Amino acid sequence: MDFLRPTTWEEALAAKADRPDAVPIQGGTDVMVELNFDVRRPAALLDLGRVAELRAWGMEGGACRVGAGVPYTTIIEELGGTLPGLAQASRTVGSPQIRNRGSVGGNLGAASPAGDCHPPLLAADAVIEVESRERGVRMIPATEFYLGVKRSALEPDELIRAAHVRPATGPQYFSKVGTRNAMVIAVCSFAIVLRPEERRVGTGLGSAAPTPRRAHEAEDLLARELDWEAPLDPALLRRFGELCAAAAAPIDDVRGSAAYRVHAIGVMARRTLAWAWNDHLGRRAA
Ligand SMILES: Cc1cc2nc3c(=O)[nH]c(=O)nc-3n(C[C@H](O)[C@H](O)[C@H](O)COP(=O)(O)OP(=O)(O)OC[C@H]3O[C@@H](n4cnc5c(N)ncnc54)[C@H](O)[C@@H]3O)c2cc1C
Repeated sequence: MDFLRPTTWEEALAAKADRPDAVPIQGGTDVMVELNFDVRRPAALLDLGRVAELRAWGMEGGACRVGAGVPYTTIIEELGGTLPGLAQASRTVGSPQIRNRGSVGGNLGAASPAGDCHPPLLAADAVIEVESRERGVRMIPATEFYLGVKRSALEPDELIRAAHVRPATGPQYFSKVGTRNAMVIAVCSFAIVLRPEERRVGTGLGSAAPTPRRAHEAEDLLARELDWEAPLDPALLRRFGELCAAAAAPIDDVRGSAAYRVHAIGVMARRTLAWAWNDHLGRRAA
């Protein structure tokens, strides 16, 4: 197995262009498990660990550009105020060791329906920046990034550069059901983002369909009927939960049944909207 070690982003793109069969490795918390269990035996590994650009984040064009190699620990420690939904999700990932190495780019690269970054990225209208040496940069909305179980819109000669996420302008929450409190793959998960200035609510469902997805009809319902000055109407909250549950298309597996997942998505949708709404009204009153 060849081991390619670029030190700059340009070298990394060149290596991927010349060796599209090379498997990128960032934190290695997914890749090394697959190698150890012989799930795959690639002809080459493309180690991105020395590409410092990937571990940087900053504001750009009104959005927070989070480098693909930024580990969860950095998101928790430095981006909790700017991207609270993503930071909450990051706190639930694995253990401290996994959060020190695991990255947003790795979560996107793996494109598992259960990945914890995906619901908050979807709910916050994130855009994924990918690049190839031959065709340059592509900006892919998160809604178009996930194509199937562990399949994304990334082409073989492309690498993920960053996720662009608009900073929070209202409350955000992430909720995850697991079989224990830590070191657990989501049975299902849910993220909510309030954009009071746009009178809009974003949603993201995880581990509830072949790909992470939004609950579009539930979002449309709130866009039409939510009164942003008033307490939440219980009937509207219930209907929101039902539409989020209806957006799920889960399977039965070892972690949970499809029926349980549909039920849990409805519960998490109602809970997170109620939490976010309390914060929203509290901020208005302050
Ligand atoms: C014990 C344990 C617990 C875990 N718990 C959780 C959890 O709670 N929630 C969760 O979501 N995940 C969990 N994971 C999975 C994993 O930690 C995450 O998916 C993490 O985000 C992967 O990041 P990484 O940098 O380690 O990726 P890597 O393992 O380096 O790569 C993952 C995939 O992304 C590709 N890739 C990496 N970087 C790029 C790039 N720049 N461009 C293109 N492709 C790229 C790789 O080729 C590979 O296919 C856990 C893993 C372990 C071992």
